[in-house]
Parts: sequence; C-alpha cells; structure tokens
Amino acid sequence: MNKKELNTSRRNFMKTGLTGMAGLTMLPVITSGKNDPTPQPKKKKSPAVYRTLGKTGLKLPIVSMGVMNADNPRLVEAALDSGIIHLDTAYVYQRGRNEEMIGNVIKNRPRDSYVIGTKIYEPRDRKTGLFPKDAKSNSFIEKFETSLKRLGIEQVEILYLHNISRKESLLFEPYLAAMQKLKDQGKIRFIGVSTHVNEPEVIEAATDSKQYDVILTAYNFKQPHLQKIKKAIARAARAGLGVVAMKTQAGGYWDQERQHPINMRAALKWVLNDENVHTTIPGFTTFDQMNLDLSVMQDLTLTEQEKIDLKLGQQISQAGLYCAQCGKCTSQCPHHLEIPTMMRSFMYAYGYKNLGQARETLLSSGIHRLPCHDCSTCAVNCTMGFDIQKRMLNIFRIKDIPEEFLV
Ligand code: SF4
Ligand code: SF4
Repeated sequence: MNKKELNTSRRNFMKTGLTGMAGLTMLPVITSGKNDPTPQPKKKKSPAVYRTLGKTGLKLPIVSMGVMNADNPRLVEAALDSGIIHLDTAYVYQRGRNEEMIGNVIKNRPRDSYVIGTKIYEPRDRKTGLFPKDAKSNSFIEKFETSLKRLGIEQVEILYLHNISRKESLLFEPYLAAMQKLKDQGKIRFIGVSTHVNEPEVIEAATDSKQYDVILTAYNFKQPHLQKIKKAIARAARAGLGVVAMKTQAGGYWDQERQHPINMRAALKWVLNDENVHTTIPGFTTFDQMNLDLSVMQDLTLTEQEKIDLKLGQQISQAGLYCAQCGKCTSQCPHHLEIPTMMRSFMYAYGYKNLGQARETLLSSGIHRLPCHDCSTCAVNCTMGFDIQKRMLNIFRIKDIPEEFLV
C-alpha cells in the first residue's frame, strides 16, 4: 500500500468511525453456552495445514483451539470433528469446569486423535512476578493430578508453567523439578511455559535453559514490542522449541460494545505468516468463529484489504481491548495499582464475554479498594492510549457480582 492509499484509507476510517471500516469481518454477537441455538455444522474436515511443534515431533494443524472461553461441549466436538487436534486449557479455567468439559468430550475418542495442553498457575508476588522462595512442588503436583482426573486421561502432551513474566520464575527449581518428575513418570510428554507479560525475556530464558520443549506466547499485530517477540520466537524455533501463539486476535474487538470486530481472519493470518509459529490457539466461542478461524488454512496470503485493516489497526490508539502488558503504567500511578491485570480483566469481560475469568483475574490484582474515584485526572499515560481511569472504574464493578452468577 502506498502512502496516498494509506492516507485515503485512514481518512475514510476516521470519517466513518470504526463501523465503516471496509473489510471488517462482522461476526454475530457471541452467544456461547449450552443453550447456544447455533446448529452444529456438518462434520466435514477443512483442508488442514500442518506444522511440526519443534522437537516434540507433534504434527498439528496451524489452527488449534484455545478452550478457555468456551463452555459448549458441542463446539469442542465440532472442532475435533473439523480436523482440530490440539485443545488448550488450564487448571484454573472456569474453576475446573473447562477441563471437565474437555474430559467429557474426549472420553469416547481414540487417545491418539487429540493433543491436550494444560497449565498450572502457582501464586507469586504480584509486583515482581517471583514465586515465594519457600514454595514447594507439592501443590503444583496436586493441582496437576486434579487436572488429569478432570480430563479423564493418564497423560497430557504439554504441561505449561502458567503465566510467567520473569526469567527467575521460569527457572524456579521446585516447579521445574516437579515437571521433570511428571515427565519421568509418563504423566506429561513435554514441558512448556506460557507467557503474556515480558514475553521476550521469558522466551529467551526458556531457549537458553534447554529444559523446556514448548513455549506458549501472546503474539499479535497490535503488540508494541512485536519485533522483539518475533526475534525471540525465531531463536526458540531454531533451537527446536515448539512455538504456540495465543492472543492472536488482540482481544477480538475494537470496542467494548463488540459492534466492531477486529478483522480476525487477517489477524490470525498475520501470526501464521510467521513460520516460526507452529500452531495458534484462537479462543473461538461460536461455530461461525470456528469456521472463520479454520478458513485461514485455505490461503494464508493477506489480501490488500486485510493488509490495510491491519496497518490501520496498528495506528489507532484508544481503540481495542488488548493490553500489551508492558507494565509501564504501574509506576505512573501514585498508588502503583496493578493496572495490567485490571486491563486483562477488562479484555476478558468485554472482548471474550468471559465474566468468570474477568472476575478471577481482577481479584488476583490484589486491589480491594479502588482509589481512582479520588483522582481528578489519571496520571497514567498508557502505551495503547487507553483511558485507564474510565476502564478501571468500569471493570472494578465486576468484583461485587456474586460468584454464582458468573459460573
Ligand atoms: S494498560 Fe497500557 S501501559 Fe499498562 S500494561 Fe497495558 S498497554 Fe501497557
Ligand atoms: S485514576 Fe486510578 S489508575 Fe489513574 S492515577 Fe488515579 S489511582 Fe492510578
């Protein structure tokens, strides 16, 4: 796209607002849930494109399923029937119901027809991201044994140390030893780490450590530091690590009303055009979204319009739900509030409509009373241009919703 075309597109974009942006893929409002009336699609496999997950040797379609936001077993069934092999979940998702749902779906399927990745999150210092020095491996192993029971299987392919933001945490001996022990016992096949904060440091450290087989990282066209992630991923892939990408569609929407979806097909293609990414785990929650995600495998070439959409999307500030988790806000706030966690909660609530996960994430921020009411203006200048005060006040309300309404 030349400069003139870009300027014209930008003018049109701004004139018509987000609604008029040509090429936006208008998806129906998400209606996930057991009562989703959407008919199950015909059981027809899409032509799949496979890549090998590094030295694990697992050959996976480049589109897998992030199950976190899905609570409809028919959707997971449909994903597997459509050729998806890899399901990604975690001990904490939906307080265990996510793993249980997957367990019910896979129980009658041959064990070699699917690949399971799950994750264990252990408490750490919210500010430093470090585990307590006296933390032991017992609770890590107990949680994993519970995951196995929920899933109804004796082994998962990938176990991730969940949500790591520091090199020191990645190398934390009790959890590394626990994962190695589980591997020796045959309860897991591969050791992984997941990261969506400070990703380059974590990926580099995983590569250098030679103790990890797979990395699961946030990676999308909206990240301000995407070149650093790209470089770290390339090095990891060269060293033989499997690379799985998440947050590929950058929160899914430009607006909290979800009237204006990001061009999700373009966003997913953008990630997959990096061949160092072996598979992706978009978190689709409807059959239409699933079909859209699968359709990228027909042709990964970005159309001219898709390139324009992504280019403009990169330039727009104060839009979108995706927080880059850069952490630059925390020190600007006089109360040092855990803003990145709150913004992740905001994305889960408005982008994914996963209110349970949003509430849990918010509670993990450790903010019990919000001082934002007392600030005449917010001192935070956010990298993504978010109105932090407005979003903080908005999302904090979810704290008071009784838990049983969100399950
Ligand atoms: S809220 Fe803004 S400044 Fe803070 S982590 Fe997210 S993108 Fe960075
Ligand atoms: S409005 Fe909230 S986030 Fe902004 S400076 Fe005040 S306390 Fe911090």
